[in-house]
Amino acid sequence: MDYVRRRALLRETREQAPVSSFLVTSPQNVQYLTGFTGGESWLLLTGERAILLTDFRYGEQALKEAPDVEVVLRADETLAALATRVLPSEGQVAFEGPHLSYANYRRLADEAGADRLLAVEDWVEKQRALKSPEEVALIRRAIAVAEAAFTETRAQLRPGMAEKEVADELVWRMRRLGAQAEAFPVIVAGGERGSLPHAQSTDRRLRAGEAVLLDWGARVDFYNCDLTRVLFLGSIPASIREIYGVVLSAQQEAFEASSPGRLLGEIDEAARKLIAQAGFGSFFGHALGHGVGLEVHERPTVRHNAKDVAQAGMVYTIEPGIYRPGIGGVRVEDMVLVGEAGAERMTSLPRGMEAMVV
Ligand code: ZN
Ligand code: ZN
Repeated sequence: MDYVRRRALLRETREQAPVSSFLVTSPQNVQYLTGFTGGESWLLLTGERAILLTDFRYGEQALKEAPDVEVVLRADETLAALATRVLPSEGQVAFEGPHLSYANYRRLADEAGADRLLAVEDWVEKQRALKSPEEVALIRRAIAVAEAAFTETRAQLRPGMAEKEVADELVWRMRRLGAQAEAFPVIVAGGERGSLPHAQSTDRRLRAGEAVLLDWGARVDFYNCDLTRVLFLGSIPASIREIYGVVLSAQQEAFEASSPGRLLGEIDEAARKLIAQAGFGSFFGHALGHGVGLEVHERPTVRHNAKDVAQAGMVYTIEPGIYRPGIGGVRVEDMVLVGEAGAERMTSLPRGMEAMVV
């Protein structure tokens, strides 16, 4: 990863604001800009300098992972005190509003003076939304692991298995196939529990003839993926058959709408309109998709009225769903990469209804 280039690009954003320095406190943003993967550390960018503020526990790791930044270790002081000590004596300091706790903000304000602090948002996240070929390659590896683990787990699926057993099976298979970890707690929701978009996997046992929704992802070298499929145990329930076809068509519409220059709000709308026309508009209450990278949910958000446009290098999910309380739900989630000419599906698992019967 070219961290020097990333910081140079960020300098263009910094120079548009009346600040002398930028304090980066989100761990993923620190990692994105330096390569350092430890916790409880901040990055101070000031002029041409990049200074990693950390402590003894991470000293050796910082030198290894981020050899091209200055590393300053905190002794018996807070990060806020250390940051203030290395700040230039004058000039405004931008900080990441969404990623600095109120307690740390207070400390910083006490040390450096509240009038020097300027809250900013999304400076690094905007940059992270456009993936480099190297990042895309890691996401592809994460997808390959997640898909292979799914295919293996699918072959094990039987009525009588508990949701949590299926989730554990997926997790250990992903790990065995090369994942650093699961990207998030795996969701396995059987039958009527499929109507809970973010269900927890429970001890509930799967029954023959019902639908099972699985939402899972792998992390490889800190890059994540996020997929959802619905499987059918033996046969397709009539109540689900109706909505599955609608969700699949909506997903295809959104995929075809994903071309560079297109408003993200329009891509969401392409899927949402189709679901509404089928009479299920009120059963699709979340955004169509989200960016995936160092975090499972990151920019861009593909939602109703989103004013950003799709750009080459963006990686996001397309995951329309229809959730019917008491009956069940269907969501089909794939990941796409926007290219110069259009979008590419990065995921390759089957999604046709009949193909999902086990
Ligand atoms: Zn998901
Ligand atoms: Zn998702």
